Amino acid sequence: MAVPKHKISKARSGQRKSQWKLTPLNLAACPQCHVLKLPHRVCPECGYYNGKQVITIKEKKSGSR
Ligand SMILES: [Zn+2]
Repeated sequence: MAVPKHKISKARSGQRKSQWKLTPLNLAACPQCHVLKLPHRVCPECGYYNGKQVITIKEKKSGSR
């Protein structure tokens, strides 16, 4: 098994971990209902994609529960 030749110092680990960050979500408005959704995905609000209804939304998520 390969073993690291040198200890990784705390400074080096910290330098690497300082680059580990989240990227903000890229949201685009749905052309049908203008709600913010992820691009290249069927809209979860109206079920439209590329100008056509591809899935049927059973009920409104907000309100009940
Ligand atoms: Zn929509």
